[in-house]
Amino acid sequence: MIYSTAIYLGFRPDQITVFGPGDNPVGTYQQFAYNLGQTVLRSESESHFLPADWPTFGQLNAWARRSPGSLIRSARRKYNPGVPDILAEAQVVQRKLGWNDQRYPAKVGWLQREGEGTDPHFVLYDEDANYAGRAKHVMIAVGHGPLSWPPLLAKAKEDPDVGPRLAQAYEAKDYDPQGRYVVVGAGIASVNEWANILDLGGKCISLLRSPVPDEQDLNTPRCLFEALGIDAFQALSFEERIAFLGSILKGTSPARRGWDVKVNKGRAERRFEQLIGEIDQIEPGPLGLRIHVVSRHGPDPGWLDVTGVIAGTGFNKSALSVPLLRRLIDFYKVPLEGGRMKLQSNCGVPGLDRPDSRCAVMGIFANAVVTHGDTIAGLKYIGRRFVADCYRVEKAAGRVRRRGFLDRLGMQFSLARQSVSAVRRVQDVEQLA
Ligand SMILES: Cc1cc2nc3c(=O)[nH]c(=O)nc-3n(C[C@H](O)[C@H](O)[C@H](O)COP(=O)(O)OP(=O)(O)OC[C@H]3O[C@@H](n4cnc5c(N)ncnc54)[C@H](O)[C@@H]3O)c2cc1C
Repeated sequence: MIYSTAIYLGFRPDQITVFGPGDNPVGTYQQFAYNLGQTVLRSESESHFLPADWPTFGQLNAWARRSPGSLIRSARRKYNPGVPDILAEAQVVQRKLGWNDQRYPAKVGWLQREGEGTDPHFVLYDEDANYAGRAKHVMIAVGHGPLSWPPLLAKAKEDPDVGPRLAQAYEAKDYDPQGRYVVVGAGIASVNEWANILDLGGKCISLLRSPVPDEQDLNTPRCLFEALGIDAFQALSFEERIAFLGSILKGTSPARRGWDVKVNKGRAERRFEQLIGEIDQIEPGPLGLRIHVVSRHGPDPGWLDVTGVIAGTGFNKSALSVPLLRRLIDFYKVPLEGGRMKLQSNCGVPGLDRPDSRCAVMGIFANAVVTHGDTIAGLKYIGRRFVADCYRVEKAAGRVRRRGFLDRLGMQFSLARQSVSAVRRVQDVEQLA
């Protein structure tokens, strides 16, 4: 998003370097989505990778499939782009704009602020402390932290007798159709796993710590996706924002037509049940595992024989879990509270960011500033504002020339047209909302 927005505004490809080992900008997401069996996005029509908002994904889909269905759904906020569609679009944007040609294929291990006076910039080093490059502005877009496990399961994972039967929802899995699985959690990842197990003919026990959380289609209330909502959120103090995030980002599960049908059918066939409690013991058993479940909300479910346990417990959200961020936090004394960096309202990193040489963060580690910072819409919001700031600085210094309106229109239209051709070639997945 940073790359395509920068090219759209007028930067030349050789003025941008993408640091990272992956040659596919959506490779990480693609792998997680595949492991989870995700077929449609949770988000809606505005979640796309074109540098400007129009046409929306609903419009691209209607154009590609010559059907107004996605437009009608979109107007009712019931359209979710298919995963194959957005991946196809991302490939068009990256290939057409030469993203991979500007990539330095290594992870960044360290950023050094240099030239405090008239030539502020950063020197970048890889994880082996080799010089990797220098940059005036840096966006840190390192994605999510490591997968998170409940402490007991994290310990059991190390045990060779039970560890291989424990998996995280975002990891690759191989279900036994005759198996009986416990899925921990009730967020979107867990709901996907219920469906995956039931689809294969297996039995599924959904294990929740407390009674079911509120049902909501996106992790963040929709009003916070709009500029007014973001402004209202940013007007809160850091402490108020964190309290607010704690109350809204609690692992919500949207109701999907397909999932409801599968779960109801599974319940009728006695292949799906829900228990309230937490695992406090785990050992090898006749089906593979024996787990003991205790509950603070009623009688203890006790011992259960199961084939495996799936943790739908997401990612570690602490910035300290990412080595690059941890080093920057330590060295530059970035303020931190509860594992979250106290970023500026423009997502700048205190101690590193300057108006004339920006250093900002996007993604999950920016969601104390933009609640949906880790969604495609949120990445777009943060990324575009960052690029606009860089553009203003570089334009004033005469290092970038504004791309004219017709040129930008042509670029957007050409990317949209090619995205439509690409979308037409991939499978049209069923809408679930
Ligand atoms: C299963 C799943 C489903 C989702 N569904 C939706 C959805 O429906 N709608 C929506 O809007 N969003 C959704 N999201 C969220 C969204 O896809 C992610 O937030 C988004 O992909 C993040 O993009 P990113 O480029 O910031 O991070 P990533 O895609 O994680 O990429 C980070 C990249 O940084 C590289 N990297 C890491 N450390 C370094 C380093 N030190 N130096 C250089 N490179 C580094 C990694 O190798 C990786 O290539 C979903 C996420 C997941 C996991």
